[in-house]
Amino acid sequence: MTTKFGFTKMDIQEFEAWIDSLKVARTVLTVQQHHTYSPSYQLFKGNNHFELQKGMQDYHINHNGWAAIGQHFTTFPDGAILTGRSLEKSPACITGQNANAICIENLGNFDTGKDSMTVEQRDTIVRITAKLCTRFSLPVNTNSIVYHHWFDLTSGQRNNGTKNNKSCPGTAFFGGNKVSDCENNFLPLVAVLTQPTPQITGQIIKYAMVTASSLNIRTRPDPSSAKANDRAAATLGAVLRVYEEKSGWYRISASQQHWVAAKFTAGVKHATVTANTLNVRTGPGTSFEKVGAYTKGQELFIVEQKNKWSRIGMDNKWVSNDFLAFD
Ligand SMILES: [Zn+2]
Repeated sequence: MTTKFGFTKMDIQEFEAWIDSLKVARTVLTVQQHHTYSPSYQLFKGNNHFELQKGMQDYHINHNGWAAIGQHFTTFPDGAILTGRSLEKSPACITGQNANAICIENLGNFDTGKDSMTVEQRDTIVRITAKLCTRFSLPVNTNSIVYHHWFDLTSGQRNNGTKNNKSCPGTAFFGGNKVSDCENNFLPLVAVLTQPTPQITGQIIKYAMVTASSLNIRTRPDPSSAKANDRAAATLGAVLRVYEEKSGWYRISASQQHWVAAKFTAGVKHATVTANTLNVRTGPGTSFEKVGAYTKGQELFIVEQKNKWSRIGMDNKWVSNDFLAFD
């Protein structure tokens, strides 16, 4: 990483580590994609990143009258990234849409027939977008990843490019600047990189039962992380398999990053029925009313034990331990 004129230049790997360690107080809801249009590729000499960034800053301050450079980040044809405006400040990039945005300016003119994007810059754009989505828990869709082209130039209203709009980030940006182009060409590349790394530990370490009326399933062991979008909240009494424990959180999937706060669960024992028929009673003893039966091999989750009897789940269902095999 090198710094000049107050900007820091890094490669994408340095960026990924840097953004993870950076504390950001501002709420981030969208990542904007732009092209600089000018400067375009012909002004990039391979070593003048800082000078080009300074030129944009001077234009934004002296010509536009802004307090600082408009964008948070600029990507370059060689794949480098330069920092710009502080992430704690809203960018000056799309009228009416800046409040919770991160603005990425991609250096070049990506309108059809103009600059042909290098593979290095292409890789950096995909990776920086994926990293920002992961870092700020943004879903990979066209509400959180937006193109300048989708917003009216004057009002800032979203019209998906049907009215008075800039072509930015370019009519050839990843195959086009329309919402459908983004969905078909750009988002799949980003989504691959934001998918959780499959866990190698598929081993159940314990079982836990939900004690809250509804328990959110999150994508990280962190109450501020996004809710899992492929699994509904767990309900009271549901038994969860625990594969990993981390600072008060349980991972409850063998292959997905699905986490719940452990404090809203209670430990349960796991047992299987050994008798052909096992009577279920309303209390811990044969004098209690019989309310049903389990059959051999059935899996049971025990929340309480008393006098060699086990209570199954949240209801008053008790069975004798004599006919259970515990793990
Ligand atoms: Zn733009």
